[in-house]
Amino acid sequence: MRLTAQIQQLGTETAFEVLARAKRLEAQGRTVLHLEIGEPDFPTPPHIVEAGSRALWSGATKYAPAAGLAELREAIAQWVSRHGLSAAPENVLVTSGAKPMLFYALTALIEAGDEVLIPDPGFPIYESLVRFAFGRPVGYTVDAGRARAVDAAEIARKISHKTKVLVLNSPHNPTGAVLDSATLQVLAQLVEHHHLTVVSDEIYSQLVFEGEHRSIASLPGMAERTVVIDGFSKAYAMAGWRLGYGVLPVAMAHYIERYIINTTSCAPPFVQHAGIAALAGPQACVDDMRDEYRTRRDFLVASLNRLKGVSCAVPRGAFYAFPNISGVLRRTHAAVEQFADALLDTFNLACLPGTAFGKGGAEHLRLSFATSLPTLEAAVGVLQGIVEAAA
Ligand code: PMP
Repeated sequence: MRLTAQIQQLGTETAFEVLARAKRLEAQGRTVLHLEIGEPDFPTPPHIVEAGSRALWSGATKYAPAAGLAELREAIAQWVSRHGLSAAPENVLVTSGAKPMLFYALTALIEAGDEVLIPDPGFPIYESLVRFAFGRPVGYTVDAGRARAVDAAEIARKISHKTKVLVLNSPHNPTGAVLDSATLQVLAQLVEHHHLTVVSDEIYSQLVFEGEHRSIASLPGMAERTVVIDGFSKAYAMAGWRLGYGVLPVAMAHYIERYIINTTSCAPPFVQHAGIAALAGPQACVDDMRDEYRTRRDFLVASLNRLKGVSCAVPRGAFYAFPNISGVLRRTHAAVEQFADALLDTFNLACLPGTAFGKGGAEHLRLSFATSLPTLEAAVGVLQGIVEAAA
């Protein structure tokens, strides 16, 4: 077999690899603390499961329209319209998770040699897809510890005549940073001035702990230049259902619909019915989960900041802590990848090295707090033991 140069460009998401390693250790009888994968530990709320299972029993097991069930597209258009975007059902495409939409959008927009601004540290799939399309990723810093996590002036400096797309991700994986309105406004001006397209990954839009989520697409003139990507995995604890969506200009949606026809045909209709129940049903479940994440965040971040050689900015959204552990690495003479490996192999603590999110993640760990408080307490105990031993 001779595989294409293109397929060999694809990167990966380390979270899935570390999860697989952790599962192998569990199969050997070990008990692992899972702080690696960004997946809610809560079950899907019962009314959503019921809607999905009712749909299964009532025969929603055939192909659905490629763009999504009309009722779900309508529900999504209404939902995003209530949150500041003006969208019609024709602007909405339903996909099997947010990831396929990310794939479709980036590969539809990037040609060989195009430059794409991506967050660094950032979700690794952006860089992977940019390279897959033979584009050139250009990283910009995200630092949740600064007053402005993203510096629009840095982005302005990095725009060249080859820049085609700006990828935004707010709330941000892995730092939990949330873009403020003033930054969004400056970015919107840059995007208009340089005729860029924005791919705005807003999968954590409902997990903002302080203040409100704002989409760049809600700013004047931006809906025509933006693909908003969101989904059900995080807010409704539905990661395994595989349901997401894009909100985008109709002209682009036409082609992406063909992409869906050429790949998955449609998202499963019974899963889409569960999605309708999620958006139309009571939202208290989302509020309750968010409150619980906030409690965990407060515990985890305060505990981390008490450890010598560790400093952790407060994540304002998503469910990750991204501590800088340079002080610990210096004393243990370890690189962060080795350190993260040893945490799993020796201490049964699964988490990710910051470098899994790009060069900008050097000397950091990503700890997911989408896991129980006792698990987080045990994880802090492990880290504390290491820090004390190294002192
Ligand atoms: N974008 C970001 C920033 C994510 O963190 C994730 C999940 N880890 C996704 C997209 C993928 O979401 P989905 O499960 O809906 O494909």
